[in-house]
Amino acid sequence: MSRACAAWAAAGGGKRPVERLKAARRKHRARGIRLMGKFVNLFQSARLRARSVFAAKANAGVSARASAKDLATPIDATDERFRRAIECGELQLYYQPLTDIKTGLITGAEALVRWNEPDRGFLLPAQFVPYAEETGAIIAMGDWVLRTACAQLKTWHESGLLDLRVSVNVSAKQFESLEFVETVASALKKAHLAPEFLELEITETTAMKNLELSIAVMSQLHKMDVRLAIDDFGTGYSSLASLKQFPLDELKIDRMFIRNCTSDPDDAAITMAVISLAHGMGLNAVAEGVETQRQLEYLRTLQCNTMQGILGGSAMPAEAFTRFVRGEDDPYGSIAALP
Ligand code: C2E
Ligand code: MG
Ligand code: MG
Repeated sequence: MSRACAAWAAAGGGKRPVERLKAARRKHRARGIRLMGKFVNLFQSARLRARSVFAAKANAGVSARASAKDLATPIDATDERFRRAIECGELQLYYQPLTDIKTGLITGAEALVRWNEPDRGFLLPAQFVPYAEETGAIIAMGDWVLRTACAQLKTWHESGLLDLRVSVNVSAKQFESLEFVETVASALKKAHLAPEFLELEITETTAMKNLELSIAVMSQLHKMDVRLAIDDFGTGYSSLASLKQFPLDELKIDRMFIRNCTSDPDDAAITMAVISLAHGMGLNAVAEGVETQRQLEYLRTLQCNTMQGILGGSAMPAEAFTRFVRGEDDPYGSIAALP
């Protein structure tokens, strides 16, 4: 068991029954979906604070694990080494909940790749994705991520978690490769998954690199009914004239702006402007890196659609996500503790 999982398992939380939450849980359990944020207002309590504290600790754990030594020593691996990692099953996908701010329902997960490198231990994407991109191994890695995420989502659907979607990050090299659209179609077909359940996240920088190509590729994916999001919005340089030519579904606001959106007037203004831009263009606004109740409340007042961040759950392995979304394994003690 990884340290993050051990910390999670250890954080059982209190067992105070709360009638309103119980009733809601029963209703939503029937659909196999976990309720999260809806009762956040009701839970300005020790339990919610415990949850935030846990989240902070879990994050600190990950940071500590991947701190100094690890982050200072990225894996400058060869193409061959990356390919072996895929073949030997050293890669793993973690899934981070995406929560509808209005309903409190977990509507999906972002798939985030990890590498259990035998000599170096657990590696985060920042330590190897740039090198995989450099060597070109990112194409094979990206294919693996796409196929694994689609297969996992199909498993979730078959287990009754019918409304979940999965979001997959797409690197620049992958997006520009001639086979990309074909690869996406093949992953969906192999998993017997309807395209509207898959969302592809493309960064602003990737999308703006070659406008003509981006519009062509996105249009093909859009025609297939695959959902499209611009990731880390606000950190690259976008032209709004270009943005409107992309057939998008979502804008994901980079966590750089969310971090201080309740304390820095500039970040507050940027967050408000991006949400308003998304809504004006008929797109969903997703806030990344939501860590505090205050941030969530601010986003709620701006009618931001979706939140992602440690407040709603850190990235976790597939089995843990299954328990989490069903409310069976609750690191914060807010749901699973109820009889
Ligand atoms: P991203 O796509 O913007 O993913 C969100 C990142 O923010 C994840 O980091 C996630 O763990 C982290 N995060 C989410 N909520 C919080 C929070 O509340 N606080 C903090 N401090 N962090 C939070 P992760 O997993 O390390 O991934 C980093 C980046 O690596 C991703 O950013 C994405 O650009 C890239 N990446 C991850 N998986 C893949 C993949 O399968 N393929 C490609 N091409 N890139 C990937
Ligand atoms: Mg992303
Ligand atoms: Mg992002």
